[in-house]
Amino acid sequence: MSTAETLDDVAAAARACRACTDLPLGPRPVLRVSATARLLIASQAPSTRVHVSGTPWTDASGVRLRTWLGMDEAAFYDGRRVAILPMGLCYPGRLPAGGDAPPRPGCAARWQPRLLPLMPAIRLTLLVGTYAQTHYLGRGAMTERVRDWRRHLPRFFPLPHPSWRTTGWEARNPWFGAEVLPALRAAVAAALAD
Ligand code: SF4
Repeated sequence: MSTAETLDDVAAAARACRACTDLPLGPRPVLRVSATARLLIASQAPSTRVHVSGTPWTDASGVRLRTWLGMDEAAFYDGRRVAILPMGLCYPGRLPAGGDAPPRPGCAARWQPRLLPLMPAIRLTLLVGTYAQTHYLGRGAMTERVRDWRRHLPRFFPLPHPSWRTTGWEARNPWFGAEVLPALRAAVAAALAD
C-alpha cells in the first residue's frame, strides 16, 4: 500500500497547523491548493479580513490584485485553475510602527516543500510582494525585479504587494501600468489557456 502524501493530506495538515503559539488572533491557516492549478499566486500572509473570512484576498488588496490581473472573482477563485499559497499561512499581527508583521518565520519552509511538488500543473507563479520574491528568488530590490519582469518568465512574474501603499508606488512608476500590467495579463492568460 502506498504511503505517499496526497495534496489533500498535506493541505489538511497545513490547515490544522498550530505550530505558532503566539499569533495575536490565533492560528488560522488560509490557503487554496489544487493538483490541476496552472497559476500559483505566492503571496505574503493573510490580513485580518482574510483571517475572518478564511478565503484569501477578500480585502482591498485582493480587489487591487484582481484589477491588475484583469480577473473577476469567479476566475480568481476557480480552484481548479488558480492556487493561492502565502509565505505565512496565518495572520501574523501588526508591527509597532504600523503595517502587518512579516509572515511567520519557518512557515514557508514547513509547508511549501510539501505542497508545491503535489501541484505539478503550475505553469506560472506570481511573486506578490517582497517576501514571496525573496523566498523564490533570493534577496533583491522589489521595484527592479518588477521592472525586470521579462527575465523571470516563463516561471515567475514578480509584482508589488497590492496594499494601499502601492498607490503611491504606482504613481511614481508609471511604466508598471503602461507596460507590466498588459504583459502580466498576457502571461496569466497563456498560463490558463488549454
Ligand atoms: S503561521 Fe504557518 S507555521 Fe505558524 S501556525 Fe500558521 S500555518 Fe503553522
